[in-house]
Amino acid sequence: MQTILVTGGAGYIGSFTVDKLIKKGFIVVIVDNLSSGNKQNMNEKAEFRELDILDKEALEKVFSEFNIDAVVHFAGKIEVEESMYDPKKYFDNNILGGLNILEAMRKNNVKNIVFSSSAAVYGIPNKKKVSEEAEKKPINFYGQTKLWFEELLEWYDKIHEIKSVCLRYFNAAGAAIDGSKGEIRKKETHVIPILFDKIQQQQPFSIFGDDYPTRDGTCVRDYIHVLDLADAHIRALSYLEENNQSNIFNVGTSEGISVKELVEQAQKITGQTTQIQIAPRRPGDPPFLVADNTKITQTLNWRPRYSDVSTILESAWKWMNRK
Ligand code: UDP
Repeated sequence: MQTILVTGGAGYIGSFTVDKLIKKGFIVVIVDNLSSGNKQNMNEKAEFRELDILDKEALEKVFSEFNIDAVVHFAGKIEVEESMYDPKKYFDNNILGGLNILEAMRKNNVKNIVFSSSAAVYGIPNKKKVSEEAEKKPINFYGQTKLWFEELLEWYDKIHEIKSVCLRYFNAAGAAIDGSKGEIRKKETHVIPILFDKIQQQQPFSIFGDDYPTRDGTCVRDYIHVLDLADAHIRALSYLEENNQSNIFNVGTSEGISVKELVEQAQKITGQTTQIQIAPRRPGDPPFLVADNTKITQTLNWRPRYSDVSTILESAWKWMNRK
């Protein structure tokens, strides 16, 4: 059975992917510095080495300790706002940390990597549904680091024949269907956990702008359930194994939901109403960001199974109300 190195395997999407890999019979080695990951999320059947991917020596030790067949690379910084006042942190972690992984792969003859990229590479798309070929013009430094690392992967393929699949996530959301596992963040910025928190605390929820050129004036996003994202990684690994070819895929549902629509659905699911206040626009928010997912459905035969808004919200609500 193959051994997969998962960087950031204690994080939100990483830990759901680890669970799925283990269920499929893979041997999993997690490296994570636990800066935003959480031990509670980590599958007990995985090997774990607590280290920072910037620590080249520690990382290379893991490659000599285990016979790694492929890498799934999640570890990185993901806060858009932070990337705009501390770009160096983003360059170090997302570029230099990633390079350490590629170099360790090269030295140990590991040829396949799946990379967590982001729809942030597109910036503000000029088309309704954004396909992989759309113009890439990041509007924040976080998105820029994702795009640079994609380009680095292209060069490592040309020069060293390391093959990669970049998965450009849209809005990751949701939790385990039984509510047993979900997103844990020190500082929450994502709309669904904030919305539920405000509902629980009976405090008003702020919508960041209601004068966008969208159907109800609020921003439209493509929310994708974390279980569907995890599934995309398993398929990406098989794709690399079978095709020995690099590729890039959007991972989204191709359906958009506005912030106002989310609020309405959340009220239905919780049976509670929430007061809404309209706050100023948040800098760097594209009005409309929805995937064209034709390529991943056709090439990887991937389908979203849990990403309807009610499953996303119900699972996230269960997770919020866990004992
Ligand atoms: N949003 C909001 N109120 C909040 C948090 C987010 O209106 O308290 C909006 C945000 O402006 C964006 C959408 O919800 O239009 C999704 O934001 P999130 O941070 O979850 O994801 P992003 O699209 O930025 O990756």
